[in-house]
Amino acid sequence: MARVFSGIQPSGELHIGNYLGAVKNWVAIQHQMQSVFCIVNLHAITQAYEPAQLRERTQAMALTLIAAGIDPATCILFVQSDVAEHTELQWIFNTVTPLGELERQTQFKEKSSRAGSGEVSIPAGLLNYPVLQAADILLYRADNVPVGEDQVQHLELSRVIARNWNARFKAGYFPEPQALLTPTRRIMGLDGQAKMSKSLGNTVGLLESPDEIWAKLRPAVTDPARVKKTDPGNPEVCNIFSLHRAFSPAETVTHVDAQCRSAGWGCVDCKKVLHGNMVAELVPIQARAAELRAEPKRVAAALAGGAERARELAKVTMREVRDHMGLTA
Ligand code: ADP
Repeated sequence: MARVFSGIQPSGELHIGNYLGAVKNWVAIQHQMQSVFCIVNLHAITQAYEPAQLRERTQAMALTLIAAGIDPATCILFVQSDVAEHTELQWIFNTVTPLGELERQTQFKEKSSRAGSGEVSIPAGLLNYPVLQAADILLYRADNVPVGEDQVQHLELSRVIARNWNARFKAGYFPEPQALLTPTRRIMGLDGQAKMSKSLGNTVGLLESPDEIWAKLRPAVTDPARVKKTDPGNPEVCNIFSLHRAFSPAETVTHVDAQCRSAGWGCVDCKKVLHGNMVAELVPIQARAAELRAEPKRVAAALAGGAERARELAKVTMREVRDHMGLTA
C-alpha cells in the first residue's frame, strides 16, 4: 500500500489555507492510504519563539487536527521531536545535499530576507529546513505528500536528496516522493498580498468565532476594479471568489460569478454569503474542538500512541540506512 507523509508547523493556529491546501486532503486520504501526519515542532524553531508558547501551540495544533477529522486510530499522528530519528537522518542527508540547491529555495530567500532585515542573523536551520523535511518524509519511505503549492519546490529537493543517497549507497532504497495537491492548492491571505500564512498574520483561523471571521472578511481585499458597488468585477481575480469555490455549493459559485460580473451584488453581499457557508463548515469542527478541550488527556494519549508507532517505522529505516552506509560494526 502507498504510504503518505505530511507535516504542519505548530507556529500558530490552524488556518483555512492549511485546511484547504493540506489538512482537508489528509482527512480523506487517511482512509485510503497508510498515513503518517506530523506536527513539525523542529521546523517551527527556525523562527524566533517562546518555549512555553511552542509547547502550548503543539498541543493546540494536535487538538485542532483531530477536531478537523484526523483520526489518530486510523493514521499515525505524532510530534516530530518525539522521534529522534528525524534529526539523525537529517544529518545524513546534509552530506548528500548540494548547497546551491538549498540557497535557491524560494522559501529560504523569503524567510531569510525577513529574518536578516533586523538585528538577528540568519540561522543555518533556515537554510537546512528542506533537508529536515526530506528526512521527515523519507524516514517513512513515503511515496506521496499531500501539501499546498508552496511546498512543491521543497519536494523537488526531497527527490534530489533521495536520488543522491540512492546513487551513493543503495539503488532504489528511498522512493522519490510526489506532491498530492488539492484543487485549492494556494489560498491567498485576506490582504490579497501574499499566501495565507501563520507567520504573516493574514489568516482566518479554523476555530475563530463567526463574529471574528466576519470582522476579517468584511474589509478583505476583492477585485480592485470594483471601486463602487455598480462597477462590474472579474471573479477570476478575486480572493473572495476563490474562497466561495472552496466553501460554497456549486450553484452558489455560479450565481456569485454572475452577480459579480453584472454588479448585481456588491462585495459585501458576496462576503455575507461566503461567511454563512464558511461558518457552516467550521461549526462542527469547533464543536469537536470544544469536546476535546474538556478531555486534554485524550489528545496527549493520541500523540503518545502516534509517536510509538512512528518510532517503530523509523527505527527500521535507520537500521537499514546505517547498515548501507557502513555506520554499523
Ligand atoms: P504556514 O505557511 O501557515 O506556516 P505550514 O508551513 O505549517 O503553514 O504548512 C502546512 C501545510 O499547509 C503545508 O502543506 C502547506 O503547503 C499548506 N499551506 C500553508 N499555507 C497555505 C496556503 N495559503 N494555501 C494552501 N496551502 C497552504
